[in-house]
Amino acid sequence: MKPLDPRLLRRARGARVFLAASVVIGVLSGVLIITQAVLLAHGIAGVVLHGTGVGAVAWGLAAVVAARALLVWAQEVVAQRAAAAVKSTLRRQVLEHSLKLGPVWLSGERSSALTTLLTKGLDDLDPYFARYLPQLVLASTVPAGVIGWMATGDLIAAGTVLITLPLIPIFMVLIGWVTQARSRRRQHALAVLAHHFADVVGGLTTLKLFGRAKAQESAVRRVTDQHRVASMGSLRVAFLSSFALELLASLSVALVAVGVGLRLVDGKLGLETALMVLILAPEAYLPLRQVGMQFHASADGVAASEEVFRVLETRLPERGERTDVPDLRVTPLHLYDVTVTYPGREEPALDGFDLEVRPGEVVALTGPSGAGKSTVLAVLLGFVVPDRGVVVAGGSAADEFVPSVWRRQFAWVPQNPGLRLGTVAGNVRLGRPDATDAQVRAALTAAGAADLPLDKAVGEQGHQLSGGQQRRVALARALLTDAPVLLLDEPTAGLDPDTEAEVITSLRATGRTILLVAHRPALIAAADRTVSVGSRQLVNA
Ligand code: ADP
Repeated sequence: MKPLDPRLLRRARGARVFLAASVVIGVLSGVLIITQAVLLAHGIAGVVLHGTGVGAVAWGLAAVVAARALLVWAQEVVAQRAAAAVKSTLRRQVLEHSLKLGPVWLSGERSSALTTLLTKGLDDLDPYFARYLPQLVLASTVPAGVIGWMATGDLIAAGTVLITLPLIPIFMVLIGWVTQARSRRRQHALAVLAHHFADVVGGLTTLKLFGRAKAQESAVRRVTDQHRVASMGSLRVAFLSSFALELLASLSVALVAVGVGLRLVDGKLGLETALMVLILAPEAYLPLRQVGMQFHASADGVAASEEVFRVLETRLPERGERTDVPDLRVTPLHLYDVTVTYPGREEPALDGFDLEVRPGEVVALTGPSGAGKSTVLAVLLGFVVPDRGVVVAGGSAADEFVPSVWRRQFAWVPQNPGLRLGTVAGNVRLGRPDATDAQVRAALTAAGAADLPLDKAVGEQGHQLSGGQQRRVALARALLTDAPVLLLDEPTAGLDPDTEAEVITSLRATGRTILLVAHRPALIAAADRTVSVGSRQLVNA
């Protein structure tokens, strides 16, 4: 883990502004710390040596303290604003990038991991901005200023601080190595505990049914114990490490103090300078010690930002610039020798697949589950880039065109249609926002959903509609577009035979080119042609 990730500065303007502001605040803090020490030393020396009053010095000190308080407030305000700005920038960038990467990349576990990352995960950046970064800036400005100023009064003391100061980061790194292994062990124990607990709670009914609920108690107790022991171990190391750093800093200050004391007695050093050096010495060590503490507090946020960069650095498939996509109402579509192997898989999902779809044709893709039928549709839409082979229309490869323009030729009804929060009509209108109610109703009727009220509420992810209803709404949405090619993944699943027959009739009546993934005999029978996926052969029905 780097102290400061340059990618954060590159990607988020808010972070750069914040860093610049923090440097200004850091330098000002350094100046104020030195002024405070000088004033204190001057005041005390004046009282002790000359018996002068402290009025002017006290006013000066009060002003310095007020200014320091003001700086702390400014730092907090800047930090909160920066954290909010950076979080929203990163969230937006990740969302845009993952949309470009497409639904296949987003599928499965990744979507839930991404949801956690973009919500709670990135919120962990707050302590990074509010605590760690300002401290890092202070650690790089204040000690340098303090040592520099000390050198003007007492070179030997400045030299002592300069030599002992690096011991603090060295010890921090050594302690870091020990804590890393321990905290990993603790995190593992916590993950096991969480998993086990979720398992037990989830399966409580089954466990009770089989009289095994009691037996789980001891298992949970054992895992909890492991977690407790690991946590106590981490805490011990944490306490010991702050003790060690505290001791190191105190000894270093004592070393400076002894030297200053001896030179004061010898008369080589004035009282005012000696006091100034003594007051300043601990200030040189403090920011470095604090930065180590904040480093651990912000580790979660840094881990989240690393995850964000991993997403942002996922390369987008290379697509062309052309916008003159051939009209698929009159141009046939070809797939030549298309081979797709998903990352992490050994077997290809599609192997040397060829297909020709002529305008106006209804082609059914058949084959057992997992044969690669949905993958064919994903390749056509450009969501999956084949390892080998091409999609060709009118003599040009599909990847020469701008993806969004290419996709305008298609309307797609996937197995999981993903409806939005709103109404039935709102969801259907996604296909054509300016459609009238009559057009929406006609599309719903053609999709076999004449009975669905237009203003029926649809919950997130299509909740409040049955699986079959969701699919019909999605089909109506596809029918409402003017895309020449319909890609339908089992469009009649969940329909009764009569409605299915009606849907098939209205699909055929559109006269559009239709590529459907089909299992049901009625749907297969309605197609002009059946292509079996997975067996590398074309079957003409
Ligand atoms: P079908 O639609 O015929 O059921 P798919 O095209 O969905 O088949 O899947 C073909 C094969 O590719 C299956 O073995 C499936 O597990 C695998 N597969 C599909 N999508 C992914 C993915 N995003 N990542 C990894 N493997 C996948």
